[in-house]
Amino acid sequence: MSKIGVKPYFSDTNTLYLGQRANSVDHIKAANYHGFNLSTFNVPVIIADGLLGHDVVSVEVNLKHFKTVPVASAYYFSPAFMVVSHVKGHMAFGFGGAIKNVGMGMVGRAGKYRIHSSTKPILKKEACIACELCIDICPQKALYLNPEKMIDVYGVRCVGCGACIPACPQHVFRFNWDKPAKEMHEKLAEACFGVVKNKKALYINFLTDITPDCDCVSWSDAPLAGDIGVLLSKDPVAIDQASLDLLEKAAALHPSALKPSIKSNPLHHLRPNIDSHYLLEYAEKINLGSRKYVLEEVS
Ligand code: SF4
Ligand code: SF4
Repeated sequence: MSKIGVKPYFSDTNTLYLGQRANSVDHIKAANYHGFNLSTFNVPVIIADGLLGHDVVSVEVNLKHFKTVPVASAYYFSPAFMVVSHVKGHMAFGFGGAIKNVGMGMVGRAGKYRIHSSTKPILKKEACIACELCIDICPQKALYLNPEKMIDVYGVRCVGCGACIPACPQHVFRFNWDKPAKEMHEKLAEACFGVVKNKKALYINFLTDITPDCDCVSWSDAPLAGDIGVLLSKDPVAIDQASLDLLEKAAALHPSALKPSIKSNPLHHLRPNIDSHYLLEYAEKINLGSRKYVLEEVS
């Protein structure tokens, strides 16, 4: 129990894809290796959705895509959260901030699947040079070389995580930025709505080390922009809108994944086909928060 009467714990949920965070045993070890443990902070780690990602409580939302959201049970039974998010680029959403962290990161495995399952990458198979890089990277073992030595996908295995998109040197994969992707943005906002329903939450967005891809990928790259700072808000929509606006005004850093000719608005130029504002527009529409904000600088 802390001096102010709360019992804090570090937390995450198990991932949809395979890897070091796919079950609670490996996940707690991974957290420990990164310094999140009782010895360093005197704060325990709790994997919020149980051993295999199935420990959830169904929260009624009655929205366009989801009637209920499977919220990780530790979060459901916690009265308040402090949501710490690293703002960076994302292959499916354009950027990842507070809403992405909550909507995807605080639901159980079934919830993650329901968000991802509306979109799967489109393949330009004829560009494939059979290097097999994507096959190793796909967390679902969904990719294989067909008898013509071109990449192919086991559709039922693919969960639309997007990890193959930046991995391919030939740009064989792309998301279908049309109805399915917009649907995925809407589902993410609805999942976030279910998690925070009737909760107190404080959101902290770190606009530092702004890398091109989601932190869940097993690689990183040079930042696209210089460090901007840390934002704090009680509104997940306002803090993400402010983060996106600040990023749009930021100068592009080089060398990075951006073309040398790009001078500003780095995240937009990295993935010009993704409308990152759509997520925030929809989130506001379902009353998750407001896109209006006032930036107060604290030095
Ligand atoms: S990474 Fe690209 S080029 Fe290499 S096997 Fe996969 S699809 Fe083909
Ligand atoms: S989106 Fe790509 S990496 Fe992700 S599961 Fe599907 S094929 Fe595999």
